[in-house]
Amino acid sequence: MLPSAPPGVVPYVTARSEERLLPCPLIRRRVGDGIAYTDETAYDRDSFGAPWVRPQLLPKRRRGEPRLKDIHPYRQRRAMAHMLCQVCARAPEDPDGPQLFLLRDTNGPIREEERTASPPVCVPCAGIAVQECHALRGGRWVAAWARHAPAWGVYGTIHDPVSLQPLPGRYMELVEYGSPWRPGRWRRAWWSSSTV
Ligand SMILES: [Zn+2]
Repeated sequence: MLPSAPPGVVPYVTARSEERLLPCPLIRRRVGDGIAYTDETAYDRDSFGAPWVRPQLLPKRRRGEPRLKDIHPYRQRRAMAHMLCQVCARAPEDPDGPQLFLLRDTNGPIREEERTASPPVCVPCAGIAVQECHALRGGRWVAAWARHAPAWGVYGTIHDPVSLQPLPGRYMELVEYGSPWRPGRWRRAWWSSSTV
């Protein structure tokens, strides 16, 4: 049995009550296909060109209560991009070494190229993650050391190419960078995904 998580510990990627998504009017991209923001900045897209939803970035004291079921898109993206621990946000001691990932147990072996939107954990935080992270809580989970975990794609919402509105029922779909429905054409990203 695991020791209880220290009281008050909230994983770094957890969203909080006062952190809302900012409205961002969409337009067609001026060059090529896809959507863009009317007031787009360099921070709105990841290094693969995918536009991301815009969450508020507030100082810690103004973020409000944790919403343990929800992930903050910017912190998730940052943790995944830099392989930071999803609980304490510490960078790996050896960035080129294997990283520890926790996945929900689906009664099958973890295979090469398994995809996950859950950033890695450091060893001291692994016990906290399985108790505090919504995707793992109350279920069975498995752990894997990944020697290489490249960015694969994003979970995102598909937008209608004509109306630019989100398409009903196409809210959170996984798409690979570089595919015809790649992020940045008609899709806005919520979470990034790596292969383990
Ligand atoms: Zn940690």
